[in-house]
Amino acid sequence: MRLTLLLLCFSLFLSIASAAEKSAAQKALPSSGVVFTFDDRNMDQWVKQIPLFRKHNAKVTFFVDHFHTLKPQQIARLKKLQDAGHTIGCHGVKHRKAVDYVREHGIERYMEDEINPAVQRMTIAGLKPTAFAYPSSSRTPEIDQRLLKTFRHLRGGTGLPPTQRMRDLKPIFVPVDQIKATGCLIGTGIDYAGTQKRPHYLTEIKDAMDHAKQQSEIVIFYAHNISDKGPGHHLPPKALEEILAHAQQIDLPTLTYDDLP
Ligand SMILES: [Zn+2]
Repeated sequence: MRLTLLLLCFSLFLSIASAAEKSAAQKALPSSGVVFTFDDRNMDQWVKQIPLFRKHNAKVTFFVDHFHTLKPQQIARLKKLQDAGHTIGCHGVKHRKAVDYVREHGIERYMEDEINPAVQRMTIAGLKPTAFAYPSSSRTPEIDQRLLKTFRHLRGGTGLPPTQRMRDLKPIFVPVDQIKATGCLIGTGIDYAGTQKRPHYLTEIKDAMDHAKQQSEIVIFYAHNISDKGPGHHLPPKALEEILAHAQQIDLPTLTYDDLP
């Protein structure tokens, strides 16, 4: 009898402790934020930006594909990014477009070929992913549902039509209290911001961040390499610095995918 009571008290204590932990985690979520994500296999360049991220107290998410082809040195760079507080997410085994692959082979083959092996390898390497970014933003709500059994959140994407302001791109903003219920977050691309290709983007991005701050929302962005000349799609380090400095200036905290409830 006494033992039962003791066990009851103990389990009550545990449940209170876990509830307290939960509310602490919820409290830790800021009233607004910005989620920066970078895709593909640009770890050789990403790792060089650790000091810049640190300077602006910014934490971001890197979505990696073809993990099985990475050299030990490249995996070490991802670990260095993770150790610096950033999040490493999954971007598929072979960067296949989800909608095409599922249409041809079905959802279970997609999971077996494109998702599970990547998650397993990353987990063994100490880089367990909690999130997935769709290659080419190719997705459907049905595929979302299946992937959300493996990942806490996903990332899709949307482009910015030439005539639209970034702050009016509804899908890239999520009210903080709706993050948990929003499995797939939608980002917009910010590569080439401030370059001749997209000279007005820096203003647009800052304005979108101001909007997120005012509305108590998070805003989601994606880019690829962080460099002046590629290879591949890239965001120049100077542009990144200007963007991170602005976030800091308006007191808009950065969130990684691992920070999201
Ligand atoms: Zn990609």
